[in-house]
Amino acid sequence: ATDINALADEYLRLSFHGIRAKDKTFSADFKTDFDPNMPLVTVASQDIGRVFLNIINNAFYACADYSKNLKNLPDLEDESLKNYTPCVKVATKNTSSKVVVSIRDNGPGIPENIKDKIFQPFFTTKPTGMGTGLGLSLSYDIVKAHGGKIELESEEGKGTEFIITLPLDKK
Ligand code: ADP
Ligand code: MG
Repeated sequence: ATDINALADEYLRLSFHGIRAKDKTFSADFKTDFDPNMPLVTVASQDIGRVFLNIINNAFYACADYSKNLKNLPDLEDESLKNYTPCVKVATKNTSSKVVVSIRDNGPGIPENIKDKIFQPFFTTKPTGMGTGLGLSLSYDIVKAHGGKIELESEEGKGTEFIITLPLDKK
């Protein structure tokens, strides 16, 4: 059985420090909003851990890329974008019949025309060598195999949220 809060917290830090190790100038906020009343979930921690890591890595990558692109724009009108700081927030909720984990970022968002493609194997918008396009398809399969689902909420210019729902065993 897996402690979802502890696992999510660990991978949030791991992912941030992984990007930081490659790019010393990268700074970001990360926030957590963990339900203190989480049950232990009967999924293997390496499986659900892989899902968290994939989605959190994508979130930090998207924000880091966005931040770089914004810095390269010479005259940015929007003051709030001038002071853009990447932020990834992980929240958990126990709703007695299921466990919900939300991973939200304030990155560039996902364009409407690729929303139905991102869960397909080998679909990537990253430069060659930066992504295999397998992270989300694998995550989708893992969560589905545990009877759960992954939902996507994203708006261009606003950010992206992945919502993972896992069923709880009936007592
Ligand atoms: P990879 O990370 O190797 O590209 P994934 O399956 O993990 O493969 O993701 C597929 C694509 O989905 C990414 O290349 C990117 O275009 C898009 N994507 C995933 N997460 C985000 C996010 N948080 N913000 C913006 N785009 C995203
Ligand atoms: Mg990925």
